Amino acid sequence: MKKIIIARHHGFCMGVKRAIRIAEDTAREETGRVTILKEIVHNDAVVEKFRREDVRQAYSVDEVDEGTLIISAHGVEPDIIQKAVNKGLTVVDATCSLVRRIYDILDKIKDEYYIIHFGDPAHDETQGIVGHAPDRIRVIFDREEMLSLPAWKDRKLALTVQTTANLEDFLEVQKLAREKWPHIKIFKTICNATHQRQSAILELAPKVDMVLVVGSVTSANSNRLVKISEPLCRRALLINSDEDIKEEWFQEDRGVEKVGLTAGASTPDFLVKAVIERLVSISGGMAEVITQEDVETENNFSQP
Ligand code: SF4
Repeated sequence: MKKIIIARHHGFCMGVKRAIRIAEDTAREETGRVTILKEIVHNDAVVEKFRREDVRQAYSVDEVDEGTLIISAHGVEPDIIQKAVNKGLTVVDATCSLVRRIYDILDKIKDEYYIIHFGDPAHDETQGIVGHAPDRIRVIFDREEMLSLPAWKDRKLALTVQTTANLEDFLEVQKLAREKWPHIKIFKTICNATHQRQSAILELAPKVDMVLVVGSVTSANSNRLVKISEPLCRRALLINSDEDIKEEWFQEDRGVEKVGLTAGASTPDFLVKAVIERLVSISGGMAEVITQEDVETENNFSQP
């Protein structure tokens, strides 16, 4: 391995930073029991950090009888917040403002429009979104599901999308939706942080032999970065931490000279640093660590 190239945009986004800060402040200031509903962000190291600090984690309001309940960055159904309030819990809402933006859109249009939402039905964010317009929303996971929907000629329709969806996939779904329902109103609700991380790896992956994405298996946007990289380089892998790296990946006969490194929006920086250190150590200290911008500068100078 000769070069480790760090993607221009990687790691914590503003929504994740904010949610972690809110949870830390709440844990420090509250004297009673503090519980996070589901995972504050989808990263094992972050979840574990709060567990160590004696912040509880629950998967349902039914499990919480007292104290403060923190809503994660992915948001939640309004019924769940109401249930927590009815139980006398203090609710601290760390929902990302970009997820909240989708709630605002739904609140505004749901009486008039029927909504098609492109996203993963099992994801926490999707469940919160569906809860904001029950009976008025249909979740589609892929283009085939969308094409199988009825013609709905006399229904006002709107299309929204999960914040962490793949932009290319969404553009295709949007095109097909317009062909099927020319009157559909489209809201492009993919978040900018997701878009930036995807564009950076889209550019970097073809220039390297292997892409490593640091993130947890539960992180939708980390998995997406792997999916985007897979067809563009010889190997793309999701790793939780430096401990997942195997030396044999870099044996000489594997021909891995350049490694592209990125991280999902919920991955803390210390995990990325540990991965860099491990890669440099595997290379016997020979690998040069550079950024995507450095590569561009090199290319600009080498052009006649
Ligand atoms: S990935 Fe986007 S929507 Fe999700 S928390 Fe980060 S900024 Fe918010």
